[in-house]
Amino acid sequence: MKRPRVAVAGFQHETNTFAPFPTDWENFQKPGAWPPFALGEQAAQQARGLNVPLGGFVDAAGDFDLLPILYAAAEPGGMVTAGAFDRITGLLCDGLTETPDLDAVYLDLHGAMVTEGYQDAEAEILARVRAVVGPDLPVAVSLDLHANLSPEFARLASCVSMYRTYPHIDMGITGGRAAHLLARLLERGTPFATAFRQLDYIIPITAQSTRREPGGRLYAMLDGLAGPGGEPGVESVDFAFGFPPADIEHCGTSVYACGDDQDAVDRAADTMLGALQEAEGSFDSGLVPAAAAVRRAMQVNGPKPVILADPQDNPGAGAPGDATGLLAALLDSNATAVIGMIWDAKTAQQAHTAGVGAIIDAQIGGQFPETGGPAIPVRASVEQLSDGQFLCTGPMFGGLHANLGPCARLRVRKGGADVTIVVATNRAQNADQEILRHIGADPEAYKVVVVKSAIHFLADYEPIAQEVIFAETPGANPCRIDTIPYTNLRKGVRLGPNGPVYEGPP
Ligand SMILES: [Zn+2]
Repeated sequence: MKRPRVAVAGFQHETNTFAPFPTDWENFQKPGAWPPFALGEQAAQQARGLNVPLGGFVDAAGDFDLLPILYAAAEPGGMVTAGAFDRITGLLCDGLTETPDLDAVYLDLHGAMVTEGYQDAEAEILARVRAVVGPDLPVAVSLDLHANLSPEFARLASCVSMYRTYPHIDMGITGGRAAHLLARLLERGTPFATAFRQLDYIIPITAQSTRREPGGRLYAMLDGLAGPGGEPGVESVDFAFGFPPADIEHCGTSVYACGDDQDAVDRAADTMLGALQEAEGSFDSGLVPAAAAVRRAMQVNGPKPVILADPQDNPGAGAPGDATGLLAALLDSNATAVIGMIWDAKTAQQAHTAGVGAIIDAQIGGQFPETGGPAIPVRASVEQLSDGQFLCTGPMFGGLHANLGPCARLRVRKGGADVTIVVATNRAQNADQEILRHIGADPEAYKVVVVKSAIHFLADYEPIAQEVIFAETPGANPCRIDTIPYTNLRKGVRLGPNGPVYEGPP
Protein backbone atom coordinates (compact mmCIF):
# COMPACT_ATOMS: atom_id res chain seq x y z
CA MET A 1 0.00 0.00 0.00
CA LYS A 2 1.16 3.52 -0.81
CA ARG A 3 2.37 5.50 2.20
CA PRO A 4 -0.15 8.27 3.01
CA ARG A 5 1.12 11.78 2.26
CA VAL A 6 0.30 13.90 5.32
CA ALA A 7 0.87 17.66 5.55
CA VAL A 8 1.64 18.76 9.13
CA ALA A 9 1.64 22.18 10.77
CA GLY A 10 1.41 23.83 14.18
CA PHE A 11 -0.27 27.17 14.95
CA GLN A 12 -0.74 27.65 18.70
CA HIS A 13 -2.13 30.49 20.72
CA GLU A 14 -4.17 30.66 23.92
CA THR A 15 -5.94 34.01 23.87
CA ASN A 16 -7.02 35.89 26.99
CA THR A 17 -9.42 38.49 25.61
CA PHE A 18 -9.09 40.48 28.86
CA ALA A 19 -5.28 40.83 28.56
CA PRO A 20 -4.29 44.47 28.16
CA PHE A 21 -2.12 44.01 25.02
CA PRO A 22 -2.55 42.32 21.60
CA THR A 23 -0.56 39.36 20.23
CA ASP A 24 1.11 40.29 16.96
CA TRP A 25 3.52 38.82 14.40
CA GLU A 26 6.50 39.79 16.58
CA ASN A 27 5.13 37.70 19.47
CA PHE A 28 5.09 34.63 17.21
CA GLN A 29 8.80 35.30 16.51
CA LYS A 30 9.83 35.18 20.22
CA PRO A 31 7.73 32.48 21.84
CA GLY A 32 9.40 32.28 25.30
CA ALA A 33 9.62 28.59 26.19
CA TRP A 34 7.86 27.24 23.04
CA PRO A 35 9.73 26.03 19.94
CA PRO A 36 10.63 28.91 17.60
CA PHE A 37 8.83 29.90 14.40
CA ALA A 38 9.89 27.57 11.59
CA LEU A 39 9.00 26.75 7.99
CA GLY A 40 9.18 23.45 6.08
CA GLU A 41 11.30 20.51 7.28
CA GLN A 42 12.73 22.54 10.19
CA ALA A 43 9.25 22.74 11.77
CA ALA A 44 9.18 18.95 12.18
CA GLN A 45 12.88 18.47 12.96
CA GLN A 46 12.96 20.92 15.86
CA ALA A 47 9.87 19.29 17.45
CA ARG A 48 11.18 15.72 17.47
CA GLY A 49 11.52 14.27 20.96
CA LEU A 50 10.01 17.34 22.64
CA ASN A 51 6.86 17.41 24.75
CA VAL A 52 4.89 19.28 22.07
CA PRO A 53 2.04 17.79 19.99
CA LEU A 54 3.78 18.19 16.63
CA GLY A 55 6.83 16.36 18.05
CA GLY A 56 4.67 13.49 19.32
CA PHE A 57 2.87 13.25 15.97
CA VAL A 58 6.12 13.21 13.99
CA ASP A 59 7.67 10.61 16.30
CA ALA A 60 4.59 8.34 16.00
CA ALA A 61 3.99 8.78 12.26
CA GLY A 62 6.48 6.25 10.90
CA ASP A 63 4.00 4.96 8.32
CA PHE A 64 3.29 8.40 6.84
CA ASP A 65 5.23 10.51 4.36
CA LEU A 66 5.32 13.77 6.32
CA LEU A 67 5.20 17.11 4.54
CA PRO A 68 5.89 19.76 7.22
CA ILE A 69 4.64 23.28 6.44
CA LEU A 70 5.18 25.51 9.47
CA TYR A 71 5.23 25.89 13.23
CA ALA A 72 4.15 29.14 14.92
CA ALA A 73 3.46 29.64 18.64
CA ALA A 74 3.35 32.67 20.91
CA GLU A 75 3.18 33.00 24.69
CA PRO A 76 -0.48 33.30 25.74
CA GLY A 77 -1.67 36.89 25.59
CA GLY A 78 -4.31 39.23 24.25
CA MET A 79 -6.20 38.95 20.97
CA VAL A 80 -4.19 37.88 17.92
CA THR A 81 -4.01 40.72 15.42
CA ALA A 82 -5.68 40.28 12.03
CA GLY A 83 -2.28 40.86 10.42
CA ALA A 84 -0.55 38.02 12.30
CA PHE A 85 -3.47 35.62 11.82
CA ASP A 86 -3.80 36.28 8.07
CA ARG A 87 -0.05 36.03 7.54
CA ILE A 88 0.35 32.70 9.35
CA THR A 89 -2.82 31.08 7.93
CA GLY A 90 -1.72 32.43 4.53
CA LEU A 91 1.63 30.62 4.86
CA LEU A 92 -0.23 27.47 5.93
CA CYS A 93 -2.70 27.58 3.04
CA ASP A 94 0.01 28.45 0.47
CA GLY A 95 1.99 25.45 1.76
CA LEU A 96 -1.03 23.18 1.32
CA THR A 97 -1.67 24.56 -2.19
CA GLU A 98 1.94 23.84 -3.16
CA THR A 99 1.83 20.26 -1.77
CA PRO A 100 -0.04 18.07 -4.29
CA ASP A 101 -1.69 14.64 -3.83
CA LEU A 102 -2.28 14.92 -0.10
CA ASP A 103 -4.02 12.07 1.72
CA ALA A 104 -4.50 13.96 4.97
CA VAL A 105 -3.56 17.00 7.07
CA TYR A 106 -2.52 17.12 10.74
CA LEU A 107 -2.80 20.40 12.65
CA ASP A 108 -1.28 21.07 16.09
CA LEU A 109 -3.69 23.77 17.35
CA HIS A 110 -4.58 25.11 20.79
CA GLY A 111 -8.36 25.54 20.57
CA ALA A 112 -8.64 28.84 22.47
CA MET A 113 -7.27 31.29 19.90
CA VAL A 114 -9.29 34.49 19.42
CA THR A 115 -8.42 37.09 16.80
CA GLU A 116 -9.61 40.61 16.11
CA GLY A 117 -12.00 39.16 13.52
CA TYR A 118 -12.81 35.65 14.79
CA GLN A 119 -14.08 34.51 18.20
CA ASP A 120 -13.34 30.92 17.16
CA ALA A 121 -10.06 31.23 15.29
CA GLU A 122 -9.51 27.44 15.05
CA ALA A 123 -12.83 27.03 13.19
CA GLU A 124 -11.66 29.78 10.83
CA ILE A 125 -8.27 28.03 10.34
CA LEU A 126 -10.13 24.80 9.47
CA ALA A 127 -12.48 26.67 7.10
CA ARG A 128 -9.48 28.18 5.26
CA VAL A 129 -7.70 24.81 5.16
CA ARG A 130 -10.87 23.14 3.84
CA ALA A 131 -11.12 25.82 1.14
CA VAL A 132 -7.77 24.48 -0.14
CA VAL A 133 -8.02 20.72 0.48
CA GLY A 134 -11.78 20.31 0.06
CA PRO A 135 -14.55 19.11 2.38
CA ASP A 136 -13.63 15.42 2.40
CA LEU A 137 -9.86 15.18 3.00
CA PRO A 138 -9.14 13.86 6.53
CA VAL A 139 -7.94 16.70 8.79
CA ALA A 140 -6.75 15.47 12.21
CA VAL A 141 -6.33 18.03 14.99
CA SER A 142 -4.74 17.88 18.43
CA LEU A 143 -5.82 20.42 21.04
CA ASP A 144 -4.97 21.81 24.46
CA LEU A 145 -7.01 20.87 27.54
CA HIS A 146 -7.93 24.58 27.60
CA ALA A 147 -9.63 24.57 24.18
CA ASN A 148 -12.93 26.47 23.93
CA LEU A 149 -14.65 24.54 21.16
CA SER A 150 -17.65 25.39 18.98
CA PRO A 151 -20.03 23.06 17.09
CA GLU A 152 -18.63 24.56 13.87
CA PHE A 153 -15.08 23.51 14.79
CA ALA A 154 -16.29 19.97 15.61
CA ARG A 155 -18.03 19.78 12.21
CA LEU A 156 -14.93 20.88 10.26
CA ALA A 157 -12.42 18.52 11.96
CA SER A 158 -12.22 14.84 10.96
CA CYS A 159 -10.83 13.59 14.29
CA VAL A 160 -9.60 15.29 17.45
CA SER A 161 -7.32 14.40 20.36
CA MET A 162 -6.78 16.60 23.44
CA TYR A 163 -4.32 16.78 26.32
CA ARG A 164 -5.47 14.79 29.35
CA THR A 165 -3.15 16.26 31.98
CA TYR A 166 -2.88 19.67 33.64
CA PRO A 167 0.07 20.40 34.10
CA HIS A 168 0.34 19.38 30.44
CA ILE A 169 2.95 16.64 30.68
CA ASP A 170 1.26 14.70 27.81
CA MET A 171 1.44 17.21 24.93
CA GLY A 172 3.69 14.89 22.93
CA ILE A 173 1.57 11.83 23.77
CA THR A 174 -1.52 13.70 22.52
CA GLY A 175 0.18 14.33 19.16
CA GLY A 176 1.00 10.62 19.04
CA ARG A 177 -2.68 9.78 19.67
CA ALA A 178 -3.63 12.07 16.79
CA ALA A 179 -1.32 10.05 14.51
CA HIS A 180 -2.90 6.74 15.56
CA LEU A 181 -6.41 8.16 15.17
CA LEU A 182 -5.57 9.46 11.71
CA ALA A 183 -4.09 6.09 10.68
CA ARG A 184 -7.33 4.41 11.81
CA LEU A 185 -9.39 6.95 9.83
CA LEU A 186 -7.31 6.47 6.66
CA GLU A 187 -7.64 2.70 7.00
CA ARG A 188 -11.41 3.07 7.38
CA GLY A 189 -11.69 5.22 4.24
CA THR A 190 -14.93 6.97 5.25
CA PRO A 191 -15.56 9.68 7.87
CA PHE A 192 -15.95 8.75 11.55
CA ALA A 193 -19.27 9.16 13.32
CA THR A 194 -18.70 12.06 15.74
CA ALA A 195 -20.40 13.61 18.77
CA PHE A 196 -19.90 17.02 20.37
CA ARG A 197 -21.34 18.22 23.69
CA GLN A 198 -20.95 21.43 25.71
CA LEU A 199 -21.12 21.65 29.51
CA ASP A 200 -23.44 24.28 30.98
CA TYR A 201 -21.08 25.74 33.59
CA ILE A 202 -17.57 27.26 33.43
CA ILE A 203 -14.77 25.65 35.49
CA PRO A 204 -12.13 27.96 37.04
CA ILE A 205 -8.53 27.34 35.93
CA THR A 206 -7.30 26.82 39.50
CA ALA A 207 -9.87 23.99 39.93
CA GLN A 208 -8.80 22.16 36.76
CA SER A 209 -5.63 20.35 37.80
CA THR A 210 -5.55 16.64 37.02
CA ARG A 211 -3.21 16.26 40.03
CA ARG A 212 -6.26 17.13 42.14
CA GLU A 213 -9.87 15.87 42.27
CA PRO A 214 -12.22 15.78 40.52
CA GLY A 215 -9.95 16.47 37.50
CA GLY A 216 -7.85 13.35 38.10
CA ARG A 217 -10.73 10.88 38.11
CA LEU A 218 -12.68 12.61 35.30
CA TYR A 219 -9.72 12.39 32.89
CA ALA A 220 -9.02 8.84 34.06
CA MET A 221 -12.49 7.87 32.73
CA LEU A 222 -11.55 8.48 29.09
CA ASP A 223 -9.64 5.26 28.46
CA GLY A 224 -12.61 3.29 29.74
CA LEU A 225 -14.97 4.93 27.23
CA ALA A 226 -13.12 4.18 23.98
CA GLY A 227 -10.94 1.62 22.22
CA PRO A 228 -10.37 -1.74 23.90
CA GLY A 229 -11.65 -0.39 27.24
CA GLY A 230 -14.93 0.95 25.89
CA GLU A 231 -18.09 0.04 24.04
CA PRO A 232 -17.43 -1.37 20.52
CA GLY A 233 -17.61 1.29 17.81
CA VAL A 234 -16.04 4.10 19.88
CA GLU A 235 -12.53 5.03 18.74
CA SER A 236 -11.79 8.02 20.95
CA VAL A 237 -13.37 10.28 23.59
CA ASP A 238 -11.79 13.49 24.87
CA PHE A 239 -12.87 16.59 26.71
CA ALA A 240 -11.40 20.04 27.24
CA PHE A 241 -11.91 21.88 30.54
CA GLY A 242 -11.80 25.12 28.53
CA PHE A 243 -10.21 28.52 29.07
CA PRO A 244 -12.41 30.91 31.10
CA PRO A 245 -10.78 34.33 30.37
CA ALA A 246 -12.19 34.44 26.84
CA ASP A 247 -15.21 36.62 26.15
CA ILE A 248 -16.61 34.47 23.34
CA GLU A 249 -19.88 32.64 22.68
CA HIS A 250 -18.38 29.14 23.04
CA CYS A 251 -16.18 29.61 26.12
CA GLY A 252 -16.18 26.56 28.39
CA THR A 253 -15.92 22.80 28.73
CA SER A 254 -16.75 20.49 25.80
CA VAL A 255 -16.67 16.78 24.95
CA TYR A 256 -15.71 15.29 21.56
CA ALA A 257 -16.04 11.61 20.59
CA CYS A 258 -15.55 9.71 17.35
CA GLY A 259 -15.74 6.16 16.08
CA ASP A 260 -17.57 3.72 13.81
CA ASP A 261 -21.00 3.57 15.42
CA GLN A 262 -23.02 6.78 15.81
CA ASP A 263 -25.19 5.51 18.66
CA ALA A 264 -22.21 4.20 20.63
CA VAL A 265 -20.27 7.44 20.04
CA ASP A 266 -23.26 9.48 21.25
CA ARG A 267 -23.62 7.31 24.36
CA ALA A 268 -19.92 7.67 25.21
CA ALA A 269 -20.07 11.47 24.83
CA ASP A 270 -23.22 11.58 27.00
CA THR A 271 -21.58 9.44 29.70
CA MET A 272 -18.61 11.84 29.88
CA LEU A 273 -20.88 14.89 29.89
CA GLY A 274 -22.99 13.31 32.66
CA ALA A 275 -19.90 12.72 34.81
CA LEU A 276 -18.86 16.36 34.35
CA GLN A 277 -22.36 17.51 35.34
CA GLU A 278 -22.33 15.33 38.46
CA ALA A 279 -18.92 16.69 39.50
CA GLU A 280 -20.16 20.29 39.60
CA GLY A 281 -20.12 20.53 43.41
CA SER A 282 -16.56 19.13 43.67
CA PHE A 283 -14.63 21.89 41.91
CA ASP A 284 -12.93 24.34 44.26
CA SER A 285 -10.92 27.31 43.00
CA GLY A 286 -9.00 27.37 46.30
CA LEU A 287 -7.91 31.05 46.32
CA VAL A 288 -6.58 32.67 49.52
CA PRO A 289 -6.39 36.51 49.73
CA ALA A 290 -2.77 37.68 49.20
CA ALA A 291 -1.96 38.96 52.71
CA ALA A 292 -3.46 35.85 54.35
CA ALA A 293 -1.63 33.61 51.86
CA VAL A 294 1.74 35.21 52.71
CA ARG A 295 1.02 34.99 56.48
CA ARG A 296 0.14 31.32 56.15
CA ALA A 297 3.23 30.62 54.03
CA MET A 298 5.46 32.18 56.70
CA GLN A 299 3.84 30.06 59.44
CA VAL A 300 4.33 26.68 57.75
CA ASN A 301 7.07 24.67 59.42
CA GLY A 302 9.25 22.19 57.60
CA PRO A 303 12.49 21.85 55.66
CA LYS A 304 11.00 22.47 52.23
CA PRO A 305 9.79 25.75 50.71
CA VAL A 306 6.16 26.82 50.57
CA ILE A 307 5.19 27.48 46.96
CA LEU A 308 2.89 30.45 46.63
CA ALA A 309 1.22 30.69 43.22
CA ASP A 310 -0.04 33.92 41.66
CA PRO A 311 -2.59 32.37 39.25
CA GLN A 312 -4.43 35.58 38.36
CA ASP A 313 -1.21 37.07 36.91
CA ASN A 314 -0.18 33.88 35.10
CA PRO A 315 1.58 34.76 31.81
CA GLY A 316 0.74 31.21 30.73
CA ALA A 317 -2.91 32.28 30.69
CA GLY A 318 -2.25 35.55 28.89
CA ALA A 319 -1.81 37.85 31.91
CA PRO A 320 1.20 40.20 31.72
CA GLY A 321 3.22 38.61 34.54
CA ASP A 322 4.08 41.97 36.08
CA ALA A 323 1.30 42.39 38.66
CA THR A 324 2.65 43.56 42.00
CA GLY A 325 0.04 42.43 44.55
CA LEU A 326 2.12 39.57 45.95
CA LEU A 327 5.39 41.52 45.93
CA ALA A 328 3.67 44.22 47.98
CA ALA A 329 2.29 41.59 50.38
CA LEU A 330 5.77 40.02 50.81
CA LEU A 331 7.39 43.39 51.59
CA ASP A 332 4.56 44.43 53.94
CA SER A 333 4.74 41.10 55.80
CA ASN A 334 8.54 41.19 56.35
CA ALA A 335 8.82 37.93 54.42
CA THR A 336 11.96 36.11 53.33
CA ALA A 337 11.13 34.93 49.81
CA VAL A 338 12.00 34.71 46.13
CA ILE A 339 9.52 35.90 43.50
CA GLY A 340 9.92 35.20 39.80
CA MET A 341 9.88 35.85 37.19
CA ILE A 342 8.35 39.28 36.89
CA TRP A 343 8.08 40.65 33.33
CA ASP A 344 10.06 43.89 33.55
CA ALA A 345 12.37 44.62 30.61
CA LYS A 346 13.12 48.13 31.89
CA THR A 347 14.43 46.97 35.27
CA ALA A 348 16.34 44.09 33.64
CA GLN A 349 18.08 46.64 31.39
CA GLN A 350 18.74 48.98 34.31
CA ALA A 351 20.38 46.13 36.24
CA HIS A 352 22.50 45.10 33.25
CA THR A 353 23.66 48.70 32.81
CA ALA A 354 24.49 49.08 36.51
CA GLY A 355 26.22 45.68 36.78
CA VAL A 356 26.54 43.04 39.49
CA GLY A 357 27.10 44.53 42.95
CA ALA A 358 25.46 47.86 42.12
CA ILE A 359 22.62 49.32 44.15
CA ILE A 360 19.73 50.55 42.00
CA ASP A 361 16.48 52.40 42.62
CA ALA A 362 13.99 50.55 40.46
CA GLN A 363 10.27 50.53 39.75
CA ILE A 364 9.22 46.86 39.67
CA GLY A 365 6.42 45.72 37.32
CA GLY A 366 3.11 47.53 37.11
CA GLN A 367 2.94 48.42 33.40
CA PHE A 368 -0.84 47.87 33.55
CA PRO A 369 -1.77 49.30 36.96
CA GLU A 370 -5.51 49.08 36.27
CA THR A 371 -5.36 45.26 36.05
CA GLY A 372 -2.28 44.29 38.09
CA GLY A 373 -1.57 47.10 40.54
CA PRO A 374 1.03 49.90 40.43
CA ALA A 375 4.81 49.59 39.99
CA ILE A 376 6.61 49.19 43.33
CA PRO A 377 9.64 51.40 44.04
CA VAL A 378 12.53 49.47 45.62
CA ARG A 379 16.20 49.99 46.41
CA ALA A 380 17.83 46.72 45.39
CA SER A 381 21.25 45.17 45.02
CA VAL A 382 22.03 43.53 41.67
CA GLU A 383 23.04 39.98 42.61
CA GLN A 384 23.31 38.21 39.25
CA LEU A 385 22.64 38.79 35.54
CA SER A 386 21.86 36.44 32.65
CA ASP A 387 20.97 36.49 28.95
CA GLY A 388 17.88 34.39 29.72
CA GLN A 389 19.01 31.51 27.48
CA PHE A 390 18.85 28.13 29.21
CA LEU A 391 17.60 24.59 28.89
CA CYS A 392 14.42 23.71 30.79
CA THR A 393 14.65 20.54 32.90
CA GLY A 394 11.15 19.98 34.41
CA PRO A 395 8.56 17.37 33.40
CA MET A 396 6.61 19.76 31.16
CA PHE A 397 9.22 21.84 29.32
CA GLY A 398 12.27 19.57 29.73
CA GLY A 399 14.59 19.83 26.71
CA LEU A 400 13.18 23.13 25.45
CA HIS A 401 15.48 26.14 25.08
CA ALA A 402 13.99 29.10 26.92
CA ASN A 403 14.68 32.59 25.62
CA LEU A 404 13.70 35.11 28.28
CA GLY A 405 16.08 37.84 27.10
CA PRO A 406 18.24 39.75 29.60
CA CYS A 407 17.30 38.75 33.17
CA ALA A 408 18.41 40.00 36.57
CA ARG A 409 18.31 38.72 40.15
CA LEU A 410 17.77 41.56 42.60
CA ARG A 411 17.67 41.55 46.40
CA VAL A 412 15.58 43.94 48.44
CA ARG A 413 16.12 44.25 52.20
CA LYS A 414 13.63 46.60 53.72
CA GLY A 415 12.46 46.59 57.34
CA GLY A 416 12.36 42.88 58.19
CA ALA A 417 11.75 41.80 54.61
CA ASP A 418 14.41 40.04 52.52
CA VAL A 419 12.97 39.48 49.06
CA THR A 420 14.81 38.21 45.99
CA ILE A 421 13.19 39.34 42.73
CA VAL A 422 13.92 37.79 39.34
CA VAL A 423 12.97 40.04 36.42
CA ALA A 424 13.02 39.07 32.74
CA THR A 425 12.75 40.85 29.39
CA ASN A 426 10.40 38.33 27.73
CA ARG A 427 7.21 36.95 29.30
CA ALA A 428 7.05 33.33 30.44
CA GLN A 429 5.18 31.31 33.01
CA ASN A 430 7.30 29.93 35.85
CA ALA A 431 6.59 26.24 35.28
CA ASP A 432 10.23 25.14 35.38
CA GLN A 433 12.73 25.51 38.24
CA GLU A 434 15.45 26.54 35.77
CA ILE A 435 13.75 29.93 35.44
CA LEU A 436 15.05 30.60 38.97
CA ARG A 437 18.03 28.26 39.10
CA HIS A 438 19.68 29.52 35.89
CA ILE A 439 20.24 32.87 37.60
CA GLY A 440 21.45 31.52 40.93
CA ALA A 441 18.14 31.48 42.80
CA ASP A 442 17.88 27.90 44.09
CA PRO A 443 14.18 27.57 45.04
CA GLU A 444 15.03 25.02 47.74
CA ALA A 445 17.15 27.63 49.52
CA TYR A 446 14.13 29.87 50.26
CA LYS A 447 11.34 29.58 52.81
CA VAL A 448 8.75 31.00 50.39
CA VAL A 449 8.84 30.77 46.58
CA VAL A 450 6.35 32.87 44.60
CA VAL A 451 5.65 31.70 41.05
CA LYS A 452 3.55 33.39 38.38
CA SER A 453 1.65 30.31 37.24
CA ALA A 454 -1.80 28.84 37.85
CA ILE A 455 -1.29 25.05 37.71
CA HIS A 456 1.62 24.15 35.40
CA PHE A 457 4.17 24.92 38.14
CA LEU A 458 2.88 21.90 40.08
CA ALA A 459 4.70 19.43 37.80
CA ASP A 460 8.17 20.73 38.66
CA TYR A 461 7.61 22.54 41.98
CA GLU A 462 5.16 20.38 43.95
CA PRO A 463 7.78 17.62 44.46
CA ILE A 464 10.00 20.12 46.34
CA ALA A 465 7.14 21.88 48.18
CA GLN A 466 6.26 21.73 51.85
CA GLU A 467 2.87 23.12 50.88
CA VAL A 468 1.26 24.85 47.89
CA ILE A 469 -0.96 27.93 48.35
CA PHE A 470 -2.96 29.72 45.63
CA ALA A 471 -3.00 33.46 46.38
CA GLU A 472 -5.59 35.92 45.14
CA THR A 473 -4.21 39.21 43.84
CA PRO A 474 -5.43 41.56 41.10
CA GLY A 475 -4.52 40.25 37.63
CA ALA A 476 -5.75 39.71 34.08
CA ASN A 477 -6.50 36.00 34.51
CA PRO A 478 -9.61 36.13 36.71
CA CYS A 479 -10.12 32.83 38.55
CA ARG A 480 -13.44 33.72 40.17
CA ILE A 481 -15.73 33.13 37.20
CA ASP A 482 -18.66 35.21 38.47
CA THR A 483 -16.43 38.32 38.41
CA ILE A 484 -15.51 37.94 34.71
CA PRO A 485 -17.23 40.69 32.66
CA TYR A 486 -18.46 38.51 29.78
CA THR A 487 -20.55 40.12 27.04
CA ASN A 488 -20.45 37.48 24.27
CA LEU A 489 -20.97 34.23 26.20
CA ARG A 490 -23.96 32.08 25.18
CA LYS A 491 -26.90 32.63 27.50
CA GLY A 492 -27.84 30.06 30.13
CA VAL A 493 -24.28 29.03 31.08
CA ARG A 494 -23.52 29.12 34.82
CA LEU A 495 -20.61 31.36 35.82
CA GLY A 496 -18.61 28.84 37.85
CA PRO A 497 -19.73 25.58 39.49
CA ASN A 498 -23.22 26.22 40.91
CA GLY A 499 -22.67 29.88 39.99
CA PRO A 500 -25.15 32.46 38.72
CA VAL A 501 -26.67 31.95 35.25
CA TYR A 502 -25.33 34.25 32.52
CA GLU A 503 -28.27 36.16 31.04
CA GLY A 504 -26.44 38.42 28.57
CA PRO A 505 -24.52 41.70 28.89
CA PRO A 506 -25.73 44.05 31.62
ZN1 LIG B 1 -3.45 24.60 28.46
